[in-house]
Amino acid sequence: LEPPARALIRMVRDAERVVVFTGAGISTECGIPDFRSPGGLWTKYRPIEFQDYMSSAQMRAEAWRRKFAMEPAFRAARPGRGHNAIAHLVRIGKVRNVITQNIDNLHQMSGVPENRVIELHGNATYAHCLDCGLRHEIDDIRMAFEATGEAPGCRACGGIVKTATVSFGQAMPQEEMLRAEAATEDCDLFLAIGSSLVVYPAAGFPLMAKRNGARLVILNREATDLDPYADLVVSDDIGSVLEPLSTLNN
Ligand code: NAD
Ligand code: ZN
Repeated sequence: LEPPARALIRMVRDAERVVVFTGAGISTECGIPDFRSPGGLWTKYRPIEFQDYMSSAQMRAEAWRRKFAMEPAFRAARPGRGHNAIAHLVRIGKVRNVITQNIDNLHQMSGVPENRVIELHGNATYAHCLDCGLRHEIDDIRMAFEATGEAPGCRACGGIVKTATVSFGQAMPQEEMLRAEAATEDCDLFLAIGSSLVVYPAAGFPLMAKRNGARLVILNREATDLDPYADLVVSDDIGSVLEPLSTLNN
């Protein structure tokens, strides 16, 4: 391994309470494209903002068409080397919490207990009613959509149904924000992995950790705006760098 990757392993070994913060980059090796890399989703689609989703049936239909187009990749995705290494660190008690911007459920699938994963931007593996909160399964929505060509409303209350994710313009989930804050303030090492660190408020957590005296490591194959604040920057492939942590034993 290159020296920065080795330094990362040493810092994890020396730390007691690690918080892992992940972005889309940890899931690219699992076949889920990120937003900002070449070939990423933003080169294909401009994101649908929350207000547009709420005010236009046409936008809702478009959002579901995109969701169904992405579905095979989502369904086929399995945790990668990065997810598995992090799950190991949770198992041995090194990592208390995984704060993620991802919506792909792969941290949970890798064996991190649900109560240790803090999803800042929700989860795309199911949908819910924005009025009554009722959970809806993606397959049921697809069948209704295919039958009518329209985004179906809530079967209980008729409200607007949306994937359980946070869109641009939509409020952040309060409980998750508070839990992420508490975890960040409590850690001695904060690992920011595979995030371009430009989407706020999520991208505020690395600096919050720094202010509270934690060491900050940024692992990303491209430079980020927060690199100058990091104690260590590892500019390399996530899976290759994290894999050796799968055998750490304290
Ligand atoms: P982003 O696309 O802005 O940034 C991903 C970063 O990961 C990039 O800087 C890229 O250089 C890096 N990267 C990609 N593959 C890598 C690899 N193998 N090794 C090292 N670095 C790699 O993603 P973001 O910062 O998470 O923010 C985008 C938003 O998009 C988030 O809010 C998230 O909700 C959403 N999103 C989620 C998923 C997912 O759940 N997997 C996928 C796309 C977008
Ligand atoms: Zn409802």
